[in-house]
Amino acid sequence: MKLVLLGAAGSGKGTLAKKIVADFNIPQLSTGDLLREVAKSGTALGEEVKAYQQSGALVPDNVTFEVLKDRLKKSDCKNGYILDGYPRTLNQAKMLAEIADVDAVISIELDFEEIVKRLVSRRNCPNCGEIDNAEYQGYTGFCRKCQTPLFQRDDDKPEAIKARLEVYKQNITPLINFYGDKVFKVSSAGTPDETYKPVKLFLERLK
Ligand code: AMP
Repeated sequence: MKLVLLGAAGSGKGTLAKKIVADFNIPQLSTGDLLREVAKSGTALGEEVKAYQQSGALVPDNVTFEVLKDRLKKSDCKNGYILDGYPRTLNQAKMLAEIADVDAVISIELDFEEIVKRLVSRRNCPNCGEIDNAEYQGYTGFCRKCQTPLFQRDDDKPEAIKARLEVYKQNITPLINFYGDKVFKVSSAGTPDETYKPVKLFLERLK
């Protein structure tokens, strides 16, 4: 099963992808994570990628596509995968169509006001990737899974959030139109389990 997850930053793509991974045994490929690895590499390309990510702008298509193609060559992708954060533009969707047939597209929808609220208080674990929120009950500042101190991503600060949501707004309609009847829309206004329930049913039928 080759899936694409669409949704603005902070809409819950990563959280939903992890639930799909657990039930359907396909890997989550997050271009944001893959590019953050490149950014840490200490190379000139890494510095360039870091600047794009920090500002909330898109990394150039050719760079992102190469990074994704490399990841797709790994053996864990042979039964399918979930693309979390790719494609983000119509051009990227067309590039992807050259190398893969997408089975379904899940589009997560949430009000921008709620997204901003979630993003400014989002905290991440640098060790295991777990995501928490400083406004949620029981928040301690340490990872619930591995107890590592949590941090705030540079691009979860107001200016970068604004830029990222702008990029999403400009590109989502052409993407939805491109994928047509492969798109399954779901609201993430409720809890992660509530969001996942209809998606799970949809994917079970698709299988
Ligand atoms: P994310 O972790 O998905 O929120 O992505 C963080 C940042 O990585 C984005 O704001 C972009 O700078 C970069 N990025 C992730 N996916 C893509 C993509 N498909 N195309 C271009 N840049 C991307």
